[in-house]
Amino acid sequence: MTKSLIKKIEKYTENWHWDKKSKKYAFEMGKFLFRFMDYIDELNISEKTKRKHKDNVYLIGSFEAEYGYNDNFSPKNLEGEPNFLYEFKRKVSNTKYAVQSYKSTWKKLDRYIKSCADNKIQCNYCGARIGEISERTEEKVTAIYDCKKCVYNYCDQCSYETKEENKKVQKCLRCENIIEKVC
Ligand SMILES: [Zn+2]
Ligand SMILES: [Zn+2]
Repeated sequence: MTKSLIKKIEKYTENWHWDKKSKKYAFEMGKFLFRFMDYIDELNISEKTKRKHKDNVYLIGSFEAEYGYNDNFSPKNLEGEPNFLYEFKRKVSNTKYAVQSYKSTWKKLDRYIKSCADNKIQCNYCGARIGEISERTEEKVTAIYDCKKCVYNYCDQCSYETKEENKKVQKCLRCENIIEKVC
């Protein structure tokens, strides 16, 4: 990890701790949430929605730091149903739109943890996981996508990148559908 990234994470989490132990927790959680935000950046959604998700990520981190009561950080601590709804409604916003958006960030986070956090997901076509060499092209796999039509995961080597309306998209080799990045 670069020094500038460490500094960024420290700054991001500076209000999330009060002693040595909570500082370590906050930093580990920050490190993980930064990776999650990189993942959000690559999703096929509008810039506005990305910003909204990132605002919610900060809130999720701060709620977990304050009310989570966990000793050591693991992505598992943030897995599952939307949490800290009471705190969100009381401290941030009670509008339907804001609550909906907050819940949708939790859902994205849960999905990310379940499939990506421990590199569990693999290409259903060539079997490779991220970082492994695909037998199909003998190149390193850097991303996994989901084809909703085929109900199949494909790595970047078993699908192809193209442009549509000036935007980069990944497409399924089998059905030509646009596929969505999972990890
Ligand atoms: Zn593959
Ligand atoms: Zn397909």
